Amino acid sequence: MEQLTNISVIQALAEKHGFSFSKGLGQNFLINPSVCPRIAEMGGAEAGCGVLEIGTGFGVLTAELAKRADKVAAVEIDTRLLPVLDETLSEFDNVKIINQDILKTDVAALLQEEFGSMPVSVCANLPYYITSPILMLLLESRLPITAITVMVQKETAQRLCAPVGTRESGAITVAVHYYGEPRRLFDVSRGSFMPAPKVDSAVIRIDVRKQPLDPELDEEFFFRMVRAGFSQRRKTIANSLGSMLNLPKETVYSALRACDLAENARIESLNMEELIALAKSLKG
Ligand code: SAM
Repeated sequence: MEQLTNISVIQALAEKHGFSFSKGLGQNFLINPSVCPRIAEMGGAEAGCGVLEIGTGFGVLTAELAKRADKVAAVEIDTRLLPVLDETLSEFDNVKIINQDILKTDVAALLQEEFGSMPVSVCANLPYYITSPILMLLLESRLPITAITVMVQKETAQRLCAPVGTRESGAITVAVHYYGEPRRLFDVSRGSFMPAPKVDSAVIRIDVRKQPLDPELDEEFFFRMVRAGFSQRRKTIANSLGSMLNLPKETVYSALRACDLAENARIESLNMEELIALAKSLKG
């Protein structure tokens, strides 16, 4: 297959198959030739391993993954792309395209069926309109995956990788750090895509924890507390949790005191240990 990062090749394929880019599906395809090989290499696509890709577009990343990994299973929602992929990925016999919405997919069953006991990582240039739901789906389901390497909006990368307990952190930051260890790999300018989006991007890698960070934690309550706190992040914890979780303020104050935290502390200033301690104290 000719260079899938070549604009004339993309235009010719689009014309041949009557394909037009869908903004609604976040279709910004990579045209910078150095990016996909780097995602594949840094994302763990290698012999003996499988890769789950989300959103194939014309298959530019899929091909780089298929060159390196034993098997690639790629979930793509847009049926119009299937004939294009038949053509662009015809040289690979280790790629399976699954024409589905990732958010409606039983990913655990898919991984079992496609990869069995093979180590699997996730690599993708994500559709940005559903970045958070996809990450939460992958992380909360405690799937047998080693790492998630994805392209996201630059601001999102900043938020996801910010240390917990800093002003850039949010509820999703806490979730990502709870389930894994995120780091920013490299930035990608808006000109690296066709059509060019209005924002720059960055590739991050989340190494997924094999064990829960705290096996004794009531995770359902912990994340309810985190979401409640961050939904009113400018308020003190006593005020936000009091109203959102329907707790008497005195209960929140005594939990804060038990954790050696100031009564006027805000959720964004607590690190992971302090958040876990507070959740346990409130539950107790
Ligand atoms: N991987 C290609 C590339 O890098 O050029 C395409 C990336 S493009 C940013 C996102 C892709 O995700 C598109 O192909 C889009 O059709 C697909 N997509 C959007 N929503 C999806 C969903 N809910 N489930 C699966 N794929 C989806």
